[in-house]
Amino acid sequence: MTIAPAVKHRPQATLTVLRTHWLGDHMVRVIAGGAGFSDFTPNNSTDMYVKLHFLQPGVDYPEPVDVFALRDTLPREQWPSTRTYTVRWVNPVAQELAIDFVVHGDEGLAGPWAAAAQPGDRLIVSGPGGGYTPNPDADWYLYAGDEAALPAIAAAMEALPEGAVGHAFLEVDAEADIQEIAAPRGMELVWLLREGEPAGTSALLTDAVAAATWREGTVDVFAHGEREYMKALRKIFFAGQGLERSQVSLSGYWARGRNEDGFQAEKKLPIGKI
Ligand SMILES: Cc1cc2nc3c(=O)[nH]c(=O)nc-3n(C[C@H](O)[C@H](O)[C@H](O)COP(=O)(O)OP(=O)(O)OC[C@H]3O[C@@H](n4cnc5c(N)ncnc54)[C@H](O)[C@@H]3O)c2cc1C
Repeated sequence: MTIAPAVKHRPQATLTVLRTHWLGDHMVRVIAGGAGFSDFTPNNSTDMYVKLHFLQPGVDYPEPVDVFALRDTLPREQWPSTRTYTVRWVNPVAQELAIDFVVHGDEGLAGPWAAAAQPGDRLIVSGPGGGYTPNPDADWYLYAGDEAALPAIAAAMEALPEGAVGHAFLEVDAEADIQEIAAPRGMELVWLLREGEPAGTSALLTDAVAAATWREGTVDVFAHGEREYMKALRKIFFAGQGLERSQVSLSGYWARGRNEDGFQAEKKLPIGKI
């Protein structure tokens, strides 16, 4: 049995699912709040994200569940599994927040959980983290991602000033996955439809960004999604366009064929480096 040393962690909030609704064929919004909402302190990043902690079936967790304290007493294999999700919006007045989950089939933990979530279900989150807000000094904005990054890209676009201009390239499965986003009129939204091609295998996003009209002035880039997509985009931004690192927020949000534990573990290996 391995007992980890005590480490300082970001605070936990134990929320309650209030309601859910489908945003398309492959995305469900879970709105959560309840008494635990007061333990959640949002930050100002438009890509604000939390860790979700899923209790493992068959493990008798002491109540109230403290996902960090239990690491001092339970072996690692019994710790709740974690998944990372963007907080799409927070409503401090209504005391609720929304998380949009890609429903990518029966595999995995978070996607199937969200698809079946019911009012009253427990949702343990910790965080938040985050690293991006649109640069107000940029001349234009370039956003690119697949559906896992859609919540963060949508939140960024909704935070842009009214006169903002640029392009957003958004890869989803089909027309039924296209969402309403309150983006400034000068942001051109290009929806890229895989039409049944599996997520993470398409060249649509890379090709569209490579062919994008490059505007005058300083660009602010936010590009996130499947890991191999991001490796290809990185080449376009740095080797192709010669952008500075400070202009580009880019990371893998998931990797095809890996669950999140595998994806996170591979970040230390050559294949996982972006
Ligand atoms: C900072 C950050 C923010 C994120 N925000 C969001 C968000 O707001 N909404 C969101 O849906 N995701 C988001 N993600 C991605 C999400 O964490 C991963 O997709 C995660 O792997 C999903 O967990 P799971 O339990 O459903 O599947 P896992 O158990 O992790 O994986 C099971 C299988 O499903 C595949 N898979 C995982 N994700 C996808 C996908 N999107 N499409 C197709 N196949 C997939 C895996 O490759 C694996 O084969 C974010 C990731 C990061 C790092």
